[in-house]
Amino acid sequence: MISSDFHTHTHFCDGKDSPEEMVLSAIEKGMETLGFSMHSFAQFDLDVYSDPAALYEYKKEVARLKEKYKDKIKILCGIEQDIYSAPADKDFDYVIGSVHYVKIEGEYFPLDLSREVLLDAVEKGFGGDFYSFAEWYYDEEAKVVEKTGADIIGHLDLIRKFNEDGGLFDEKHPRYVAAYTKAVKALVKSGKPFEINTGAISRGYRSTPYPCEDILKCIYENGGKVIMSSDSHNKGGLCFEFEKWADLARQIGFDVK
Ligand SMILES: [Zn+2]
Ligand SMILES: [Zn+2]
Repeated sequence: MISSDFHTHTHFCDGKDSPEEMVLSAIEKGMETLGFSMHSFAQFDLDVYSDPAALYEYKKEVARLKEKYKDKIKILCGIEQDIYSAPADKDFDYVIGSVHYVKIEGEYFPLDLSREVLLDAVEKGFGGDFYSFAEWYYDEEAKVVEKTGADIIGHLDLIRKFNEDGGLFDEKHPRYVAAYTKAVKALVKSGKPFEINTGAISRGYRSTPYPCEDILKCIYENGGKVIMSSDSHNKGGLCFEFEKWADLARQIGFDVK
């Protein structure tokens, strides 16, 4: 059973529960390791959190919990570093590297806020051509380890969040496949694992994890590694459907523990 989860958010950023509520739930589930991964501060998106000092409060609280629960569970203090945030200081236990925005004429558009915002960004920045947008996006993804110092590559195909009905673009289109394949080949060289992120399933956006099965096969064929993560924003989402999707990864050939 997989009982470690490294991608979780709390009320210090855009999550719902406190770190301690998450820890208590993780202990109840019998988890071995709980890693917190607060979002890096983004001054262009104050909806995630508006005071950069929150990051330091978060670190202090996780340090307190590490000590308090050290006999019951291993707790790690990580950060989900966005490619456009100022670099984080070095004393986090690990870094998840992610691309959450597209910058168009000085304005940052979140890729995962709503279908409308995404459509607006693709219209304004790429003349409505989703494949041009995808090519830009995967070129950014290809640089995510280099730019964030990531230990884990976050939700590689986040841009399919609002495409469950296939209405935004065809996930098998040759231009789309070529774009992600190029990014996968570049990122595999870093040796860092790609997360299999079940967050869009637990929140009802998609029926399959990031990345999709085709991309997982591409990662495998190119010699990459994977790690399970929930991207949970509340205690109920910890380790969400890990066994189900780890089984898919195992069928592809990955060694998932
Ligand atoms: Zn993210
Ligand atoms: Zn996240």
